[in-house]
Amino acid sequence: MLNLASLCFPDQDKSCFYCCPPIRNPEADPLDNIEEKRCLLRANRKELQNNLADPHEISGEECWGLGFLDDQEKQAGCLLHPLRHQGHDLRHLTGYQFKCANALCREAQVFTDLSEAEQKFCLDLCQGMDSFQYSSRSNPLMCLLAWDKEMVQIIIRDSLKNEFAVQPIDKNDKSPNPTQKSSTFTNKYEFLWQKLDFRLDAFLTLLVAGQNGLNFLRDNLDDYIQLRDDLFLELKNKSTRLLTISDTPLRPVHKLKIPLTLSRLLKFGANLWELPSGCEKEILQHIENKLTTFLP
Ligand code: SF4
Ligand code: SF4
Repeated sequence: MLNLASLCFPDQDKSCFYCCPPIRNPEADPLDNIEEKRCLLRANRKELQNNLADPHEISGEECWGLGFLDDQEKQAGCLLHPLRHQGHDLRHLTGYQFKCANALCREAQVFTDLSEAEQKFCLDLCQGMDSFQYSSRSNPLMCLLAWDKEMVQIIIRDSLKNEFAVQPIDKNDKSPNPTQKSSTFTNKYEFLWQKLDFRLDAFLTLLVAGQNGLNFLRDNLDDYIQLRDDLFLELKNKSTRLLTISDTPLRPVHKLKIPLTLSRLLKFGANLWELPSGCEKEILQHIENKLTTFLP
């Protein structure tokens, strides 16, 4: 039975442990050095009582509190979580209790905001995965959720409209490739993962696909990329002018009154990390005008 409430623990067969430790190298992936990691998760479970008797601060490389949660070594997660200790939170023993308790990735937030049917579509993409495959950011579901709620919903609707839906897994299926079904999904939308980047494109593609559909975006991809790159340069030039004439204080772009996806575009696309507060309207108007040259 699927637990649709949580991306972290989708079912009894797997869990996500990507955000442990919270001070980790963001480039590290659970599929890196997988056998070494498996041994570590096994050892941490076995050695828990010894480690509790002699706790130490964790590093960004690993945490002694992260281990397999069951004898079958299906789910991996925090062995120090209050749910495992009659409500006593032992995560302070690692030195990072606050960060541990507040770690919630953007993908999990997006997932929570989806409808039950959309969540089920998402989790069906992960049938047959183990906890390592599930936790990896190469998991097609995590790739999908990175595009943020509205774009995720457009992609799901597009999938269903085109009668592509992941079929329930056949228990007698001895296929050597349990992730085949999610590969079909990945291939179908590979232009999103291969040619675009959610950090640069989630805001603009939502405007394009929201108005004209995903097929329009796919069919005009090269023109879209050209327009996007031109826009980055124009925004950069505009910021130079804004910085010269504005006497309002500078704010980090993620604190402006704009969607997260637009702040990412400004940072990672136009390399703008601070802008004068109050410039939001002008930026949005510029983008809107630019898109009118592209949209039919
Ligand atoms: S990375 Fe996200 S989905 Fe995974 S355990 Fe952390 S909060 Fe949950
Ligand atoms: S203490 Fe628990 S939540 Fe914190 S990094 Fe270790 S395993 Fe993760």
